[in-house]
Amino acid sequence: MTVPLKDMPTSWSRALALVAHPDDIEYAMGPAVITWTDSGKEIAYVLASRGESGIDGCPPEAAGPLREREQRASSAVAGVTSVEFLSHPDGLITDSLALRREFAAAIRRHRPDMVLTINHHDDWRGVSWNTSDHRVVGRAALDAVVDAGNRYVFPEDGLEPWEGVRWAAVAGSPYPTHAMRVVGAEDRAVEAVLQHRSYLEALTDEDAESYARGFLRRNMAAAGERFHGHDAVAFQLYERDPYRVRDGVTHYR
Ligand SMILES: [Zn+2]
Repeated sequence: MTVPLKDMPTSWSRALALVAHPDDIEYAMGPAVITWTDSGKEIAYVLASRGESGIDGCPPEAAGPLREREQRASSAVAGVTSVEFLSHPDGLITDSLALRREFAAAIRRHRPDMVLTINHHDDWRGVSWNTSDHRVVGRAALDAVVDAGNRYVFPEDGLEPWEGVRWAAVAGSPYPTHAMRVVGAEDRAVEAVLQHRSYLEALTDEDAESYARGFLRRNMAAAGERFHGHDAVAFQLYERDPYRVRDGVTHYR
């Protein structure tokens, strides 16, 4: 028997999404982000790369700025205005302390209650192999939650530690545990994907809008199968131990 997904927590006000590329958020969790910003939650994005190697035939030096512009336009559709780009090389992001340090610094600056990322596992529901960038970035995001709370880890950034992250949620995980019901967000979620126009043109010959809508609808319906039939975005949720400050030790589970 399939276990139903639980409701995503709602008692938070600020989230920080840490992902690898432009459009990762829009495909994996766009309808959820829109539902959250509509309800007054504040969400900021930090992308490890500009996705500059993603368009065959378009040199990275041209594709990087183009994809950055498209990401900013897309974020605006979702009600997100804080978008930062780190300069890790698209396609070649390495599992490095530098990446964790930059993510931890972002968490210390933004002070979120919730960290969002996308699938860090090896595959997408056993269907296809996940890319190295997603695996590395997702794991670094989860690790950086712990790093950010420890003043002796990366003290060189001169920022106060931030222990306030209560949850880390992974969209697109093959092992979802929770879901966010999305209502009335579909059209804008499609619109947000469509802002990544140059990448979409390279990705599919299909009509961009039906491609984007089809992708999002399949995901929302798949989550709904384990969520009382409601359109939803599924997440694998990691909750920090509520007793983490006891004995001055930070736990993470
Ligand atoms: Zn990606």
